[in-house]
Amino acid sequence: MSCFKLPVTLCNEIESLIKKFGGVNEGSKGKFTGLSGAPFIYHDNWLPDPSCKKVLSTPQFINNHEKVLALIDNEQHCWAQETIDANFVPCEASLIKAIPLSFDDCRDVITWPLNCDGVYSVRSGYHLLLDMDLNELPRTSDLSNSKRLWKGIWGLRVPNRVKNLIWRAGSDSLPSKSNLRKRKIPIDATCLNCGLEPETTVHATWLCPSLVQVWIVHFRWLIREVGMASSFLDVLYRCAERRNCMDFFAMTVSQIWTRRNRLRVGDAVAPLGMINQMTSDNLQEFLQSSLNPPKAPSPPKVAKWMPPPRVG
Ligand SMILES: [Zn+2]
Repeated sequence: MSCFKLPVTLCNEIESLIKKFGGVNEGSKGKFTGLSGAPFIYHDNWLPDPSCKKVLSTPQFINNHEKVLALIDNEQHCWAQETIDANFVPCEASLIKAIPLSFDDCRDVITWPLNCDGVYSVRSGYHLLLDMDLNELPRTSDLSNSKRLWKGIWGLRVPNRVKNLIWRAGSDSLPSKSNLRKRKIPIDATCLNCGLEPETTVHATWLCPSLVQVWIVHFRWLIREVGMASSFLDVLYRCAERRNCMDFFAMTVSQIWTRRNRLRVGDAVAPLGMINQMTSDNLQEFLQSSLNPPKAPSPPKVAKWMPPPRVG
């Protein structure tokens, strides 16, 4: 076996990676045994999702400090399906229920998920760092990045009204309640959805706790990366780093904002749980109509003069 001397900084980085990517993992190496030492449901990294291992669902009927053991039916040696369905959004519930449980009374162990034997190797750590480096796109605070962002918005495959909305949200010029207050309009700035916080642009479109169920379905990674963003522009910049997500992101914001406007004037609105399906339908419909644009009406036929038939 060869030995290498590694710089301290690299060692620290690898150590933090092991902490981040270690823990309980998918596959046969990640089994819960029901013994002590199980992770905390809401505080530890234990979900088998490479983009975000922490639970993002809000606690419903279980204590915030409960351990994963509370989700296991120890008599039946299976996950407590009803408890899980009642407390987690569907994508997290599916992730949890797919984790195999052990029937043996062995202790849980920490394994490295990128090797079959669960043991860390420099090679797998190196590849992980390389992948992360490739996915790390340039930071977005300078002018050229700003121009690129706006150019990217105009290039999205979404209706123009949606591009316009995203541009206005990014430049914080939407008539959110807080913005109206800034213009001296005497209204209650509290968010209609949660009734908890002032409705700023970023709150109405991203931060409102009621929207977690919407964003968590396709944008868990974005929640993890920007979390409590201070502006919608921050969210936009980070989302734009993964270009293939932007169309869906923009359409989702549009659905959320339209729903918010309808709610404000007392119109009936669809439940937030339906936003993702509606977004998907609208996007499909738009893309379909872009592929098959309606044919322009053909010009009316002009009668051509013909000489009268000769007689005799
Ligand atoms: Zn709210």
